[in-house]
Amino acid sequence: MINVPCNYCGSDNYTVKHPSTMNGQSADMSAFRCTAPDYGVHGQIVQCNKCAHIYTNPVQDEEELIELYAAVDDQIYVEEKIGRRLTFAKHLKDLERITGPGEGRKFLDVGAYIGVFVEVARERGWDAQGIEPSAWAAQFAQDHGLPVLEGTLDHPDLEDQSFDVITIFDVIEHLADPLGELRKAHAKLKVGGTIAVHTMDVDSRMSKMMGSRWPWYMTMHIQYFSQRSLVQFLEKAGFEVIWTGTQGRYLRLHYLAGRLNGIHPAIGKVAEATVEGLNMGERAIPINFGDLFTVYARRVD
Ligand SMILES: [Zn+2]
Repeated sequence: MINVPCNYCGSDNYTVKHPSTMNGQSADMSAFRCTAPDYGVHGQIVQCNKCAHIYTNPVQDEEELIELYAAVDDQIYVEEKIGRRLTFAKHLKDLERITGPGEGRKFLDVGAYIGVFVEVARERGWDAQGIEPSAWAAQFAQDHGLPVLEGTLDHPDLEDQSFDVITIFDVIEHLADPLGELRKAHAKLKVGGTIAVHTMDVDSRMSKMMGSRWPWYMTMHIQYFSQRSLVQFLEKAGFEVIWTGTQGRYLRLHYLAGRLNGIHPAIGKVAEATVEGLNMGERAIPINFGDLFTVYARRVD
């Protein structure tokens, strides 16, 4: 574990916001799956005294993190594809109000995983591709005919100023250097191109109400943004922010009940039995507790 400065302003002067609940254990690979059920388990969460950014400190070093993600495989994520397809389709329709329709223009999903967003975007007329550090997930996508490169935004096949749209969904909270990643995304976008970043809101009512039990405080999340702080990160990376607001997601009831199990086993068991009893496991419902949000921004030079 290493001590890290604030990624936004570089200060190493911080206040502990939530002490670690890991009891000296280090995270193993299972904590880095997209669907890791380790609710309530997180490292020490601190707030920068200079700029108020909230992050995990200390953390595993960046190379170790990339190695962990490169080795991740996650069958539960594959099973939750229905909910994810609905979520991405909804998000993309909203995004197209800003960008206009795809019409063969170039779209890049960063942290594409098994390529669900890439697939949805291609169906809606975008020339979409993905970039993904997990070798397993990138291979899974390729095996299903989806152009998902293995690697990061540093991949040599991704040319500067070549994309009309870049999406970074549920990824930025995992990164050791989110500001650096946003700057790289800025370089890959055409002038006038749009970036959409989706993450969880540490300043939401839900987060404040639940304190250290907020379910998004997890081992694998090492940066915690508010709508305000993500706007600041994007502006520092050179973007002009267009819109910010809460946006939820679709989840299958079966999956939801399983996740509830991780937070509160007694309630979760009842929920699972109810959902199965009513034969509603495959039904997907929109979920929005107001603690997930998206920011749209544009490259203006
Ligand atoms: Zn700071």
